[in-house]
Amino acid sequence: MGTAHLTIDLSALSANWRALDACSGHSTETAAVVKADGYGLGSGPVAAQLAAFGVRTFFVAVAEEGAAIRAAVGDGPAIGVFSGHMDGDTDLLRSHNLIPMLNSTEQFIRHIGALPGAPFGIQLDTGMNRLGFEPSDWADLRGAAVAAKPCLVMSHLACADEVGHPQNAAQLAAFRSMTDGLGLRRSLAATGGILLGPDYHFDMTRAGIGMYGGAPLTTAHPVVTLSIPVIQCRTVTPGESVGYGATFVADRPRRIATIAAGYADGLHRALSSKAALYAGDVVCPLAGRVSMDLLTVDITALGADPNYLDILGPHQGVDAIADIAGTIGYEVLTSLGQRYARTYTGGPA
Ligand SMILES: *Cc1c(COP(=O)(O)O)cnc(C)c1O
Repeated sequence: MGTAHLTIDLSALSANWRALDACSGHSTETAAVVKADGYGLGSGPVAAQLAAFGVRTFFVAVAEEGAAIRAAVGDGPAIGVFSGHMDGDTDLLRSHNLIPMLNSTEQFIRHIGALPGAPFGIQLDTGMNRLGFEPSDWADLRGAAVAAKPCLVMSHLACADEVGHPQNAAQLAAFRSMTDGLGLRRSLAATGGILLGPDYHFDMTRAGIGMYGGAPLTTAHPVVTLSIPVIQCRTVTPGESVGYGATFVADRPRRIATIAAGYADGLHRALSSKAALYAGDVVCPLAGRVSMDLLTVDITALGADPNYLDILGPHQGVDAIADIAGTIGYEVLTSLGQRYARTYTGGPA
């Protein structure tokens, strides 16, 4: 087989959700964020696993994603939509029973007009300046919005992965001043906020990256393994180069494996000459540049030609690869391409 194998360990995913859930008390619900196709890992299998594990609320970025989650989890769980009620969303929201997190007065008017009595949440901006009501708009609308009984009022932290960042406390104070005394269910924390402690938990947290095995949940179980088949091996003599730009030049005889994945599969070109692959425990450095569909790897240390090399797994997780590429684990996961043969392990029987 010429495509790489992406193995997604659903039991690690649900164990990570449970670990995040255990950070807060019984009165706090831990929802699961499954936007962007479940952070690139397949929103159907991911959501089905989490629903079987007891997750009662899911969040997606846009209504179209919510429709796919509804098909995976059935009628029971609630599904919230961060982008709120956009023009053209009404039919999808109604037919799939999705709950828009309304971001503006315009969205509130649209929702109340198009789907009177249908559930909704409210998203507040507490300082990130990305989505949600500004404090002044909220002050104007609050009476009417509360009268229409939102099922949740939420906001999002900009700096939760930096424990000591002063913006965390500032956003917490802003959220409290916008929501204290309203008697509404509240949610502020994603993975980073869960780890900031109970002040940030309120009634619901929204777990994302930690479930998928990424920082800032440093104790997360690895969820993905990516094994790439070897297409061809050759020995290069001293002075010979490997790959585009001839950036790798052999200092002595080197054994090079050419393997079947590249930047079109989400293995960023910035990894060129920097990242390593693993044959079991043995480190095999990339030799030269990442191509669209291929990597060239120095396997001299192995002594025998392997069938596969791993780039993601227990030895090297998404954050390690992200650090080398100058990005974050979220982007590594959501960049994983569509060409992989995907296998799900540890799922519901
Ligand atoms: C993506 C997102 C989350 C999940 O964040 P993680 O850092 O992945 O846990 C939660 N809430 C909102 C509004 C988001 O956009």
